[in-house]
Amino acid sequence: MRKWFSLLSVRQRLWLILSVLIITFIFSIVVVMNSSKKEMASETFSMDMSIQEIAPKFGVTGKALARELNLDLDAPKTKPLRELGIKKGTLKHAVEHLLSHKDSTLKYYIFAALVFWGIIFLVKLGRPEKSDVKNRRDWYPRTPYILSLFLSVIMAGFFLGKSPNPMEGLVKVFKSMIGLYPDPMAKVVAFGFFIILAVIGNKMICGWACPFGALQELIYSLPILRRIKQKKLPFILTNTIRAGLFLTMVLFLFGIIGGRKGFVIYHYINPFNLFNLDLESVSILLTVIIVLGGSFIIYRPFCQFICPFGLVSWVAEQFSIFRIRIDKDKCTQCGACIKACPLEAAKGIVEGKKMPADCFSCARCLNVCPVDAIKYSSKFEKGITK
Ligand code: SF4
Ligand code: SF4
Repeated sequence: MRKWFSLLSVRQRLWLILSVLIITFIFSIVVVMNSSKKEMASETFSMDMSIQEIAPKFGVTGKALARELNLDLDAPKTKPLRELGIKKGTLKHAVEHLLSHKDSTLKYYIFAALVFWGIIFLVKLGRPEKSDVKNRRDWYPRTPYILSLFLSVIMAGFFLGKSPNPMEGLVKVFKSMIGLYPDPMAKVVAFGFFIILAVIGNKMICGWACPFGALQELIYSLPILRRIKQKKLPFILTNTIRAGLFLTMVLFLFGIIGGRKGFVIYHYINPFNLFNLDLESVSILLTVIIVLGGSFIIYRPFCQFICPFGLVSWVAEQFSIFRIRIDKDKCTQCGACIKACPLEAAKGIVEGKKMPADCFSCARCLNVCPVDAIKYSSKFEKGITK
C-alpha cells in the first residue's frame, strides 16, 4: 500500500484527495440527516382500524397489508381488523415487517458514493501512472477495497438497515405487478437506479456497495483455507440454480404455483434481515449461517446461487461501460488472471465468450498479468481489443 502510494503521480494524488473528500462529505450528510429521522411507533395501530386506514401509512396497498396479515389479497379492506379475525400478535408482526422494509432514501447516496469511489479507484488510481509492469504487484492494493467493503457493511448495512437493497429493488418491481404497491413507477425507478450502477461499472453495485455482498467478500478475503478456495464452481451450475429459483419465485408470486398470489420465496431466505438484527425466522437464520459460513471457502455463495439481482445484473453487466478488458494482441493465454479470479469470469473474458460469468469488479486479476494485457477501462477506450 505504501509503495503504491509513493508511485502515484501528482494528478492521481489529487484524484485520491478529491474522492475521499467527496465521500466523507456524502457520508457525513447521511449521518446528520439520519439522526433527525422519526420512527413510526407500532402502538399507533389498533384492532379497530381497517386495512384501508393502515396500509397507506407504510406506502403499501391494501392487498400488500392483507398479505402481511395472512389474508387473501381480495379480503375486505374497510372492515376493522378485529372482525377479520386478526390476532394482535399478527398485526404486530405485520407492522414490524413493513416498518423494516421502509426505504431509507439516504442509502441511495451511500450506494452511489461507494460505486463512484470504486470506479475512481479501478480506473484512475489503482495503477500508478507510468509505473512499469515489473511493479504490477504494487498495483491495486487490497486495503482501499477492504475499507470500502467495511463502509458498505457498516453504513449501507447495520447503520441504515436492510432497505433499500438491490435484491429488494428487483423483487418490489414484481410485487408491484400484482398490486402490492400504490406507486409501481417509483419501484421501477429504484430498480433502474441499481441497474444503472451495475451498467456504469461492471456489477459495481454488487462488488463495491451491496452490504451483504460486501460481508461475503470480507469473509472470503480472510487469508485462510486458501487451497480449498482455489476450486471454482461451474457457472452453468450456479446460474441455473439462481435462474431456477427466480422462475419459481415468479410462478409463486403470480399464484401460478400454489394458487395464492403474493407468496415471495425470497422473503423466507432474505439475508438482508441481518442488518436489522431480525433473525427470528428459522429459515432466515439458517440462510445467514450457511451463506456466511460457506463464504469462508466459496466466493459469494448467496450472489452466485440465490440472489435474483445477481442474475439480472449479470445480464446488465454485458453492457457495462467500465469493465475488465483484455488486449488480445498482448495476451499470451498464460492463465494468470484466470487463476486469480474467484469465478469463471476471467476465463470467459480471456476466451472471448459473448456472456462470460459474473464479474464483481473485485480487481484480483488486475495485478497479475506479466505482459500487461489486462485493464479496467471504458469500452470506448482505444487500443484495447476486447
Ligand atoms: S448479487 Fe450479491 S452483491 Fe449483488 S445484490 Fe445480490 S446479494 Fe448483493
Ligand atoms: S478477478 Fe474475476 S471477478 Fe474479479 S475483477 Fe477480475 S474477472 Fe472480475
